[in-house]
Amino acid sequence: MELKRIMAEGKLKGVKVIHAGPKQKFSPSSLLDGMSQGWLTMADGVITVRNADGADVQYRVVRTPGYYCCHCGEKLPGDPAVIDGPEGAAVRKKHVEDSHRGKKSPDPENPSGYMGTNSFKGVLISGKGEKATPSPKSKRKVRRSK
Ligand SMILES: [Zn+2]
Repeated sequence: MELKRIMAEGKLKGVKVIHAGPKQKFSPSSLLDGMSQGWLTMADGVITVRNADGADVQYRVVRTPGYYCCHCGEKLPGDPAVIDGPEGAAVRKKHVEDSHRGKKSPDPENPSGYMGTNSFKGVLISGKGEKATPSPKSKRKVRRSK
């Protein structure tokens, strides 16, 4: 996602969405920044970026920070932002061993069979944010019947 800050008299007045892809990861700090600066809201599992120059861009949150099983996607206990000691890891390993015994992790980067993420993952549901130079209507292709 590409945003442009709109400044006026040294203050942030909002953001302009230059580009918004079909999927987006948001770090907790970027969400907090956006909310405290007034250009982002998060409610009912939807992150809305208030676009100062076009339609708002909305992402449905499909994954929150946490640990996830690489085999089945189940959310596992613990918080990757906090070191939780061997007990937490044991609970996660138990899930992988009990549910997916003998199976190799589908994610080579996470051979333990589970992974931790600190970001919110969203899929675009509204607004493309592709605010290019406005194309005059006259340039649009017009179908004419002969
Ligand atoms: Zn699993």
